[in-house]
Amino acid sequence: MPVRSAASPHIPRQAPASRLSDNPRVRAALDWFTPNISWVNDQQVRLTEIPAPPFQEALRAAAVKDLLAEAGLSVQIDKAGNVVGELRGVNEKEMVVLAAHLDTVFPPGTDVKVHRNGDRMDAPGISDNGTGLAAVLALARALQFARLKPQRTILFVADVGEEGEGNLRGMRAIVEAYRAKLKAAVVLDGSGTDHVTTKALASRRLEALITGPGGHSWSDFGMPNPINALVRGSVRFINTKVPASPRTTYNIGQVEGGTSVNSIPHEARLKVDIRSESEDELVRLESALRECIAAGVRDEMDSARDRSKGKLEWKVELLGSRPGGELPADSALLAALRAADEFVANQSRIERSSTDANIPLSLGIEAISIGAGGSGGGAHSLQEWYDAAGREAGLKRALLTLLGVSGVAEEKSR
Ligand SMILES: [Zn+2]
Repeated sequence: MPVRSAASPHIPRQAPASRLSDNPRVRAALDWFTPNISWVNDQQVRLTEIPAPPFQEALRAAAVKDLLAEAGLSVQIDKAGNVVGELRGVNEKEMVVLAAHLDTVFPPGTDVKVHRNGDRMDAPGISDNGTGLAAVLALARALQFARLKPQRTILFVADVGEEGEGNLRGMRAIVEAYRAKLKAAVVLDGSGTDHVTTKALASRRLEALITGPGGHSWSDFGMPNPINALVRGSVRFINTKVPASPRTTYNIGQVEGGTSVNSIPHEARLKVDIRSESEDELVRLESALRECIAAGVRDEMDSARDRSKGKLEWKVELLGSRPGGELPADSALLAALRAADEFVANQSRIERSSTDANIPLSLGIEAISIGAGGSGGGAHSLQEWYDAAGREAGLKRALLTLLGVSGVAEEKSR
């Protein structure tokens, strides 16, 4: 459900990016990128080669912490494992966040060596989110170089737990910690400049578990079988009708269970991801999953030849839930992004997606997620790639958007 933030009287008057860029310090920051682009590329490679599997982001976090400290920020790692670097503004009571997630979807042991050929880089995680992390560092360095003091305090964040079962725990912790002061969040995720995510897609991840006594395939034949029950329930579930509008999707992503081909299993489990533009459809689909699993268990019990050998138990648990929300069309943040787009002669389309921006958006805090420039593809696959050509435009766009909501301190004339 869209959550609208009340218009805040404290939002500084939006200076168009064209005028923002007239400020000599902003100009100096914008001009930092081009001569330093190979430094930015090098940091991206270095960070991508430090593995950051789900729930194991600490090594990469430590490297980002050092780099943000070198950019002159006061940096800490919070209890969740997020790196938080602060650039104090004139008004310390108000904050804006620039964030990129640290984690990848790749398990420990994945070869994350980056293969470089000119601007082209190949490695798992190079784009998602090596690009975003490199951009956070680049923006911090550019502001340091320009000695720019923002109006509102800027937090440069590298957060944990964006992917999968991380369930946005890093961004949840950031918003929890700074909620009273937080006025806007700009999330940098992946490459490109073609989109702006202003609508948070609500999603749930569920796990169905069916258990039974288990036995021998020959001597216990006829005993209720948890895998049979899971299959019966799954077939019912995938026949569930979902509307095209509001767009609603489901995916059976993982099936596990069983001990050997000649054993009646004692356990079977299923992981399902459901998403919808509508909270109501999400609720409906979640209860459909429960009903289908219950019915699958019932069908299996009904057809079991020997019920005296035990019965099946089942449960469906919530592994994760991402709340929905929407940035108002007349928000200061969207105006800042549009002005930045105009400055770099870029056009971007509004998108709905599930990102770190879900958390602030669900609470009525202005937030967007954008790519950090260049181009890339194959996210979440071993063939992931990134091409840094033209990434300056993405960095300038991100910088002007950030400064559009943080504001820039007025310089006293001397
Ligand atoms: Zn990502």
